[in-house]
Amino acid sequence: MAKLKTRLVTWDDVVSWSRGLAGKIRESSYRPDVVVAVARGGFVPARLICDFLLIDNLLSIQSQHWTEAAKAEDRAVIKFPYKIDLSGRKVLLVDDIVDTGESLALARNYIYNNWSAEEVRIAVLQWISPVAKFKPDYYFMEVKEWVWFQYPWTRLEDTYQLLKRLLKEEGKYKKEWSFEDLVNKFLEWYEIDVGKEYFKEAVDVLVRKGILKPEGGKYIVNFTGE
Ligand code: ADP
Repeated sequence: MAKLKTRLVTWDDVVSWSRGLAGKIRESSYRPDVVVAVARGGFVPARLICDFLLIDNLLSIQSQHWTEAAKAEDRAVIKFPYKIDLSGRKVLLVDDIVDTGESLALARNYIYNNWSAEEVRIAVLQWISPVAKFKPDYYFMEVKEWVWFQYPWTRLEDTYQLLKRLLKEEGKYKKEWSFEDLVNKFLEWYEIDVGKEYFKEAVDVLVRKGILKPEGGKYIVNFTGE
């Protein structure tokens, strides 16, 4: 049993899901003038949607969830607010996934209120229906059970963070790891294979952060500086 429900998403998946999503938008009567990518997860899908729908206008907005350590509540913020005039324009706001969806809802309101768009519709590759606060206007896939989707654009970031999470636990019992030990334990915990190149880079990140110390061909786990 994996410790976290994780699914590897390939570049081919991303292209075929984006093609399918574009098809759904084309079938509807909506003809967007501008695509707005939600940074950072929406970048690749948004660019592909522009290609499939033959749209030139592509902008971006960075909306993300802020966890304030000192506070019990979380809130989403527009990271770099700026003002443009989209009056009379129809917007397609694109992101990879609606999980809770709070940051996406904030981006939509921001675009209505500050960019004066005529209409804003939301398109995502995936919609986690049981946890999402709203249903997107367009989605390629409805996900009925929560899973962490390991998209190709967060492969290194996810791999090193998942590896770190694993070592925090397993490192209590085992201090010395070979590269193969790390790979095998990762596969056991998460049941996804990110490939040797990414795994090597993730190990290097943890070495640079001082969490793994190379010694005699092995790695020693060290969380003392954390
Ligand atoms: P919020 O930040 O308001 O909670 P979301 O929960 O919709 O908004 O997620 C924000 C971003 O985090 C997504 O665009 C995506 O890049 C990433 N993310 C969230 N949930 C997942 C998931 N289950 N799998 C992969 N990436 C996710």
